Amino acid sequence: MVTLDTYKELRDEIDYSTIKLWDEHHDNMACKKGCDKCCLNFDVFPIEFDYIRKKVEELYPHVLEQDKPLEMGEKCFFLKDHQCTIYEARPIICRTHGYPLLYMNEDGDQWELSHCELNFNKVDEDYFHEENCYAQDTFNSRLFMMNKEYIKSAHPAKGEFDLVPLVDLLE
Ligand code: SF4
Repeated sequence: MVTLDTYKELRDEIDYSTIKLWDEHHDNMACKKGCDKCCLNFDVFPIEFDYIRKKVEELYPHVLEQDKPLEMGEKCFFLKDHQCTIYEARPIICRTHGYPLLYMNEDGDQWELSHCELNFNKVDEDYFHEENCYAQDTFNSRLFMMNKEYIKSAHPAKGEFDLVPLVDLLE
């Protein structure tokens, strides 16, 4: 049975993977506290939303006391003074910011690489290979399948592609 603990296990695995990527790549990354270029207004799957809400209630209850904005801009609402106010609970997408992301193109016939334009500007193209990039499609597929099972009992009215805006943490 898929529960929020199942999501936590995947998230821990992803954190482990990004720690290894940091060890390998940090000399070629400009990422640092205070840079918020990647902090956009994201939507997440219900299983991730529910887990994040549980963690935010536990770790950052004051964050939930804010009023929900009537309109959202491009940036994430939880970004304040260039820092994440729900850092330990942040979604998976935020945990992979800055790393080289390997994914299959839309035609499904070629791997493509994506990373922040501020990073990796001093390396050759052959610097990247399957083992030193984040396997975005693999982890995303696992999250998708996990969410699909989870919503059957937790959110039966939702479809497998339905996402929840992160800002909905604010009631
Ligand atoms: S949750 Fe935190 S890390 Fe993710 S986009 Fe918002 S402010 Fe940035």
